[in-house]
Amino acid sequence: MEKETVEAKLGLLDYKKYSQTHITIRNTSANAPCVKRCPDKPCVTVCPAKVYEWEAAHQKILVAYENCIECGACRMVCPYDNIECDWPPAGHGVKYKYG
Ligand code: SF4
Ligand code: SF4
Repeated sequence: MEKETVEAKLGLLDYKKYSQTHITIRNTSANAPCVKRCPDKPCVTVCPAKVYEWEAAHQKILVAYENCIECGACRMVCPYDNIECDWPPAGHGVKYKYG
């Protein structure tokens, strides 16, 4: 049996985008840990939905919050507690289908 890719599985999900982000990078200054102290940027690699992207030109993390599947991994792996991640209001965000 052929193995399904993560991208294919993500394609099966439904989302209802909320108008405001539920994910905030707390410190985005020039001295932020993302810039100065976090060379491995685990938020970028751990997120299965590719929500985080390091934009080298502007030395900041971009956040595509609408793709979030609400797994909570980014909060756990950020070594500097620099991610604030709540969940979107009820009825918004990812919708999992069962059955
Ligand atoms: S893991 Fe945390 S500190 Fe590191 S780049 Fe991501 S948000 Fe910044
Ligand atoms: S909660 Fe999961 S899917 Fe959402 S941004 Fe964090 S790691 Fe990515």
